[in-house]
Amino acid sequence: MLSANRKKLAALIILLLAGFVLVLWWRRVPVPGMGVILPHDTYTPKREAFWPHRGRILDRNDSVLAYTGPRYLLVLPPGGRLDSTRLNRLLGWPDSAFEYRSRDLRRRELPLQLDLTAAEYDLLRRHQSEWPRLRLRQYTARNYATHVAAPVLGYAYANAQPFLYQAQRLARGRFYRRRNGGLETYYNGLLKGTFGAYHPLLDVLNQPHGTWATDTIYHPGQDLHLSLDTELQAYAERIMRERKGYIVALEPATGEILCYVSAPTYDPATITMPGRGRERSALLLAEDMPLLNRAALQASPPGSVFKLVNAAVALQLGSITADTGFRCDQSLINCVHEHPNARNLTQALKYSCNPYFYQVLRNVVNNVPDSLAQPVDTCAQRHLNLAAWTRHVKSFGLDTLLGVDLPQERPGFIPTPAYYDKRRGRCGWTYGSIYSLSIGQGEINLTGLQMANVQAIIANRGYYYIPHFVRSVGTGGPLPRFREQHRTLVDSVHFAELIPGMVAALRRGGTAELANLDDVGISVAGKTGTVQNDEGDDHATFAGFAPAEKPKIVVAVYIENAGFGGLSAAPCAALIMEKYLRGNIAKKRKRWENWLRCGDLAGQGH
Ligand SMILES: [Zn+2]
Repeated sequence: MLSANRKKLAALIILLLAGFVLVLWWRRVPVPGMGVILPHDTYTPKREAFWPHRGRILDRNDSVLAYTGPRYLLVLPPGGRLDSTRLNRLLGWPDSAFEYRSRDLRRRELPLQLDLTAAEYDLLRRHQSEWPRLRLRQYTARNYATHVAAPVLGYAYANAQPFLYQAQRLARGRFYRRRNGGLETYYNGLLKGTFGAYHPLLDVLNQPHGTWATDTIYHPGQDLHLSLDTELQAYAERIMRERKGYIVALEPATGEILCYVSAPTYDPATITMPGRGRERSALLLAEDMPLLNRAALQASPPGSVFKLVNAAVALQLGSITADTGFRCDQSLINCVHEHPNARNLTQALKYSCNPYFYQVLRNVVNNVPDSLAQPVDTCAQRHLNLAAWTRHVKSFGLDTLLGVDLPQERPGFIPTPAYYDKRRGRCGWTYGSIYSLSIGQGEINLTGLQMANVQAIIANRGYYYIPHFVRSVGTGGPLPRFREQHRTLVDSVHFAELIPGMVAALRRGGTAELANLDDVGISVAGKTGTVQNDEGDDHATFAGFAPAEKPKIVVAVYIENAGFGGLSAAPCAALIMEKYLRGNIAKKRKRWENWLRCGDLAGQGH
């Protein structure tokens, strides 16, 4: 009996459902997720697609650096010959320009493709009947309106397939592949926007009646507004043209990067332009590695510039005061400069006295608090002291990824007690075996971005904003994390105590005396460094800011194999500061521009 009732109930439910669907069909009611249930012949499904335009990249002054637009090609079939003299004449090119431009592009069985400007394309199109074998082609592609800032702009993977294919075949190329995509890669999702498709059902009068498939919402590609100053960037690249190293300049109040050089460099269009495969091969194979984004991916010992960090931390930990004096005792560590004993921190920074800073860090590491009863376990105390040092130093954004808007950066390195325990055994190390930390040598490694950021922290008296290139995406601001203030563990009063010494370094008798801008009324604060290099000439560094009293620009410079920092890196930074703050270079420093390109100022009678 029961089973018969169940069957009846099931039949009733099916009947009711069928009736419901029939009513929906009749009334043409849209059903969520199913579109509208309709007879096929009444409505027509349509599809409207919207392809977003890739956003542009603009600099600080709204000059366009990269845009998607038309590109023009001259195409000549394989084996095709043409009257090149006449072509050169028509396009207003010098004699033999066509042969010169096409010499690397000729391949058997492949058509020759040569880039043209819009005007050349137009001119040739009007005369096309005279060149029967010639083809002209127009297509849409990414264009770079600048020859500078290649590691910043980078490339979108979709546009760089030939380069990525070439890179894949080389061990070093595979290293570059995932690292040098720049802003085009980092912001790819925002730049390219999202494809939109609408799926309306239209009646005979073209009136929409719901949809027949899920719509995707169209978002146009966003423009990126950079903080980069192209004029300053071009100037900085020119100074570093024949050098290896980096220059990073940023605005301390915001963390916005003003110029960013990784030298040697290349033309940003090389990576994606058709017909430049040979140049790409040369870049991939070059010994001096132009494709290595040095300021983000190369972490190296900072040298004496790091004395500033050690001084700030020692002041905070109470290991020294600004009035502490130490003898220039060369039995501890050698001092490259001849100078009177430093009676306080300001003089020590001015002379960059190695023995002074040896004793500063020794006070930190071997410190025994007065409150402790003797005898004390010195090994345990050393661990505690070095751990405190490490914790404070790391709060400067060191030994960590800063979070800059590039596809990859290095974290650098700051040693911890555990690091030394692992290598030398617990209690197997003393200050005597780690003292090179006091002068920024040994295991410490900083990237160029971190070098500049440390200066921003000093300029701001204790805090920083993550260095970044994009100050606004579309009409909005930068990414939210670039607006967060990061504070160090050192009080602002101790940063103020560093500045007189940093200013003194650029005054008479200081290590960077040469690089002062007093003649144009700009006071510079900074610190030089010379990094020992076992494989060749020492590397030169300088990091500082200007104006000292109200900093607007921070500059970090690192020049490989350039010797003493005060004679190459410091003048280089001074030129960048002067260019940014005044717009031009005073006559007396104009000649530095050439000297810096090929050597330091030693022996030039500066
Ligand atoms: Zn000394």
